[in-house]
Amino acid sequence: MSLVKREMAEYEGKQRAAVDLLVKSGFLETCESHDEITYTVGGDEEVTEAYKLGNIQWNGGLKDVFKDRREMTDIIKATSEDSDYGEDGCNICRGLMSRD
Ligand SMILES: [Zn+2]
Repeated sequence: MSLVKREMAEYEGKQRAAVDLLVKSGFLETCESHDEITYTVGGDEEVTEAYKLGNIQWNGGLKDVFKDRREMTDIIKATSEDSDYGEDGCNICRGLMSRD
């Protein structure tokens, strides 16, 4: 694997861990019907909660995912600001509901 590819794979792993923490803290929610759809339900408080959860789980495996705690909070923050996560729930479910 090239260095760039490896770095990208590493970043994906970090992002997945950040999403996981944001889901657990209640900031993000995954659609019950569509695993691949994640959307925003929380605010700043839930992002802070995700940092706390990350610190609690740090020795339980996160320290192998992230370089340090600073990197973890940076990626949690970046993920929480990711515009890919809409605020109106699941697009697919909404599409199905509005269809005649
Ligand atoms: Zn859905």
